Amino acid sequence: MGMDSIGRESGDGKKRPIRTLVVDDSALIRKTVELRLRKVGHEVTTAEDGEEAFRQAMNAPFDLVVSDVTMGAISGVHLCRMLRSDPHTRDLPIVLLTGEDDPRSRFWGRSAGADAYIGKGQMATGLLPAIERVLERRPPGEARQMTSRSVDPLARLSEVLDRHLYDAVVMSEAQRLMDHVSERREFCERALDFLGDVIGCAYAVLRIEGANGDESHALLARAPCPEPISLAVRGAIALPPPIEPLAVLRKHDPRHAERPTSGETYRFAIEAGGERLGELALYGGHKGVSAQDERTATIVARTLGPVVKSMLLLEDTRRLATTDALTGLANRRRTTERLQEEMRRAARHGVPLSVLLCDIDRFKSVNDTYGHNAGDEVLRAVATALGCTLREVDMVGRWGGEEFLTILPDTGLAGAAVAAERVRAAIEALPAFEDGPASVTTSVGVAAYVRGIGLEAFVERADKALYEAKESGRNCVILAPAEDEPSADDLETVRPGTESAA
Ligand code: GH3
Ligand code: MG
Ligand code: MG
Repeated sequence: MGMDSIGRESGDGKKRPIRTLVVDDSALIRKTVELRLRKVGHEVTTAEDGEEAFRQAMNAPFDLVVSDVTMGAISGVHLCRMLRSDPHTRDLPIVLLTGEDDPRSRFWGRSAGADAYIGKGQMATGLLPAIERVLERRPPGEARQMTSRSVDPLARLSEVLDRHLYDAVVMSEAQRLMDHVSERREFCERALDFLGDVIGCAYAVLRIEGANGDESHALLARAPCPEPISLAVRGAIALPPPIEPLAVLRKHDPRHAERPTSGETYRFAIEAGGERLGELALYGGHKGVSAQDERTATIVARTLGPVVKSMLLLEDTRRLATTDALTGLANRRRTTERLQEEMRRAARHGVPLSVLLCDIDRFKSVNDTYGHNAGDEVLRAVATALGCTLREVDMVGRWGGEEFLTILPDTGLAGAAVAAERVRAAIEALPAFEDGPASVTTSVGVAAYVRGIGLEAFVERADKALYEAKESGRNCVILAPAEDEPSADDLETVRPGTESAA
């Protein structure tokens, strides 16, 4: 296709010439390029540096810019960024000409938005075909009406570069939000600190939508936001009413002294590899959301995709490594960790701590009689019953095959005995299993923490008490003595129905 064919048809059917701005600080190159382009029908205007070129481009509608890279204060790459950031010249085709055709400057030119990058050595053969390709991709449109505008190119350059730098810094800070962070709450707190620095509107909400409906929110509030988070705010930013935010950051701002009245919510999806992982929502009420906030939120949301993904993957990995697959309870490893933490806390603050070791009675015969699946069903039911019977701060983990260890923080032997009896009774009261036993029972060994004792010795006390419970007929609770090494004589029996030691 010849160059003429690209010329734009004007209203009367005649082609109008392509208007090209040629920029180079060398008069020789300007002239050479100009002649070449005139020969193929371009209408050429020349500029001898970036400043002049930018002024011209702001005041006349060009179809193409061919610019040198290295020249004066405003380089061809700068010119490119400036033209791309102005709505009038955003789509203007730009070809960069360069003396040094190294990969780095080629990359930099492309990242600034150049359509083609030609080494001056290739100009004789390469320039016209490159221009043709570029104009095919971005064909000249109708001649645009431009109102003449006075601009200060250097001021504009510094503004454009500063904005690019701001974007790059926001991006790199957002990327680092997961550094040294190991869980969701911590991530949300850090993300809020960051949003508090870069977002200025009344409310911003970061929503994370983990797998299986595991959703959380973090709320940045610059406007008043009563506790519990008011329904108006919830409605606007779409916080589901029953769920409190995982983290809240209040940054009161005099410009948002009043709670905003109704307005639009701006939503920016957070996704990775096409998978939706959450959103960043901004709400400014009647004051709206500034263009700068919108721009920052776009960058933050886009950058957070892979960051949130890695946080969720870390969560998954940790959950798999600490959860028992059959019952969903903490596995032995996680239970041990938690017991260690609680023992440290008890030693440091002198608060009581107890454990219950529960073992299903004659469980082998459940498997033998009804099969392994029925056995699994019983294990799940016992696990659920244990979880339901205990307080929020208590923790139950699967310690072994049909053994469960329950950790009772801030609880002495007397309180633990009550909890143990409640557990025993709850399991005994389980309804009959379909294709399984009519009932199951457990034996429970109880031990209270004694300062200075190690983890193994602590659990061993509960295990000895459990053994005693089995020896004394099962379906009962035995307490290990609080002080000294437990001996058989010291073990105290709590029979079903009696809640002694409480
Ligand atoms: P006791 O009253 O003395 O505790 O008798 P028991 O039969 O409960 O004790 P034992 O330790 O002899 O048997 C435990 C059984 O638990 C043996 C094992 O097959 C079974 N078991 C362990 N883990 C699982 C599991 O994940 N699923 C099933 N179905 N059974 C399991
Ligand atoms: Mg057993
Ligand atoms: Mg056992």
